[in-house]
Amino acid sequence: MIGPGEFAAAKGLLELVGSAVDLAKKAGNKELNEKILELHGELLKLLQANLTLTQRVAELEAAQKTRETLEFDGHVYWVGKRGDRKNGPYCTKCWDADQKLLRVMEFNRGWRCPQCSTYFETQKANPNWERPKYDPLGGLES
Ligand SMILES: [Zn+2]
Repeated sequence: MIGPGEFAAAKGLLELVGSAVDLAKKAGNKELNEKILELHGELLKLLQANLTLTQRVAELEAAQKTRETLEFDGHVYWVGKRGDRKNGPYCTKCWDADQKLLRVMEFNRGWRCPQCSTYFETQKANPNWERPKYDPLGGLES
């Protein structure tokens, strides 16, 4: 998110350009006035680009923070380590491709993603595997 410092700097720049426009008008210098208006337009474009980049950085930081909490169990992602899982399971395809955390749903002998329909047949891969029970109040039982 754009911070108060950046917002104040942007506001200050716009006020400066506004003052320059007024001075150019008072001076009756049409060419200078046009150049300052052109500068104002370019400044607005830069501020918009800065805002877009700031938002993208925030998105990437949030994705990195989420990535650090994910654990891959060989089939799907979970939030938290085995024995201390906080949430999940999540689709690996949706996270790896789009950084979207999509909870997979129970389906046959595994899970299926409601978004991309990827099926994770976990029981076939590990015959001793049991689907962890999710208790909304207490988290996951391993
Ligand atoms: Zn998916």
